[in-house]
Amino acid sequence: MHDSAYIGGIELGGTKTVLAIGNCAGTILRRHTVPTRDPAAVIADACAFFNQSSLRIDALGVGAFGPVVVDPKAPDFGHLLDTNKPGWSGFNLMGALAQGIAAPARLVTDVGAAAIAEQRLGALRDVDIGVYLTIGTGIGGAIVSNGELLPALLHPEMGHIALHRLAHDRAPSTCAFHDDCAEGLVAGPAIMARFGASLDHFMPDSAEFALVADYLGQLCSNLVLTLSPQRIVLGGGVGLAPGLTSAVQQSMVRQLGVYGPRATAQTGYLCPPAWAQDAGVIGAMLCAAGAVSSTAAVRV
Ligand SMILES: [Zn+2]
Repeated sequence: MHDSAYIGGIELGGTKTVLAIGNCAGTILRRHTVPTRDPAAVIADACAFFNQSSLRIDALGVGAFGPVVVDPKAPDFGHLLDTNKPGWSGFNLMGALAQGIAAPARLVTDVGAAAIAEQRLGALRDVDIGVYLTIGTGIGGAIVSNGELLPALLHPEMGHIALHRLAHDRAPSTCAFHDDCAEGLVAGPAIMARFGASLDHFMPDSAEFALVADYLGQLCSNLVLTLSPQRIVLGGGVGLAPGLTSAVQQSMVRQLGVYGPRATAQTGYLCPPAWAQDAGVIGAMLCAAGAVSSTAAVRV
């Protein structure tokens, strides 16, 4: 793709959808945010934004909430799977976009797009393999290696890894499917349900903070043991709570014990994202810019 091409990006989030037009370097030139409502309304907004702009896009990158079929070879590519978001279960997202926007498109998850942005331009830029973990309304994760997401059967669902419950913890899980998964124990809704307030209402030396750090430390230690990433980024509304990153790292190192590589104890092994905003839509644009000439690109 020539360097002067314009690239479209869509970050389809649970509460808002970010639409952007930028260049191959990931610089945003036009940007518009709409609330995520029913699929028809969001698709209409996206088509109007891209089709009425004076900047004609040559490719479109989409970072969508999951679960979503991201494998371009799958017969149901681009469809949302069962989700609690009204109207979105089974929706053919990429088919609907193709009807209204004439540009080759690539689909990744929202967290996958953010991970791409962090590896090409941000906190994971100097590592070969990194993990991006977002802890907010849910817990999601992505693995990037040398600038690309690892190929996957569906996409990682790190938030649903089972953890060891602390002996005194009797709080019910907020995950509809699991009693002891990370998302059900310490995603934003779980923290609200068990403490009656979000994590930033608690001091880093509080018991509430320690419980959250313990569980997230377990999650990160599992990721270290299975993927051996060179760095883990903690993002999302919960993940960015002041003091949480260092508390989770201490918990992770303690739980890894002798199996923890020395680097995992160094400052910055766990770190916040470099892109506090727009990582998803920038990553989506970068995916599209890099994919048009590759086998991962799909003309829709
Ligand atoms: Zn779960």
